[in-house]
Amino acid sequence: MNLYSNQINQLIEELSKLPGIGSKSAQRLAFHIMNMPKEQVEQLASAMTSARANIKYCKCCCNLTDMEICPICADEKRDHKQIMVVEGPRDLAAYEKTGKYNGVYHVLHGAISPMLGIGPNDIRLKELMLRLQQDVDEVIIATNSSLEGETTAMYISKLIKPTGIKVTRIASGVPVGGDLEYIDEVTLLRALEGRTEL
Ligand code: ZN
Repeated sequence: MNLYSNQINQLIEELSKLPGIGSKSAQRLAFHIMNMPKEQVEQLASAMTSARANIKYCKCCCNLTDMEICPICADEKRDHKQIMVVEGPRDLAAYEKTGKYNGVYHVLHGAISPMLGIGPNDIRLKELMLRLQQDVDEVIIATNSSLEGETTAMYISKLIKPTGIKVTRIASGVPVGGDLEYIDEVTLLRALEGRTEL
C-alpha cells in the first residue's frame, strides 16, 4: 500500500540505501527533512553534491581529499620517510586522532581477498611501490588483523623486502577482525609502539 506520496517514498528509499539506515530510520529522517527549513535542506543537499563532485584521491597517499595533495602529505613538519599503510580513510582518521603519529600514510582502499576476488591490482598498491622509489626509511603495515588484512600485510612485506626498506607490522593488540576505527586510542598507540619488523 502506498502510504505516502511518491516523492516522499522516493526520499525514504534513497535514505534507506545508506549504511546503517533501516527503513524505520529512513522514514524518521525523511519526515525530519520535510520539517526542516528549506534553506537548511538546500545546504545539506549542496554539501553532499559538492563534496562528492570535488573529492578525489591525494596524488601522493591516495587518501580522499578535495586538493591535489592532501594536508598530511603537504605538511613539511611530518616525517615523509615513514609511511603507514592502512586499508581505508577511516583507519587513517583513527590514527590521526591519537595525535601521536608524525609520519605520513598510504591508503590502499581495500585489502586483498582471494575469496571476494580482490587481488593486488584492485587496491592502491602500485601507487605505494612508486612512492618507495623515493627516500623511505620505514613502511609500517597497519592493515586490520582480519584474514584479508593479514594476507595483504604478508603480500606487501614480500614486495618491499627486496628493496631493503624496513617493513614493520603493528602489534596484534588489535582484536582479530576488528575495524581499526572502533579501537580506542590507547590500544592503537600500543599496537604502533609494539610493532615488529617483518
Ligand atoms: Zn596525501
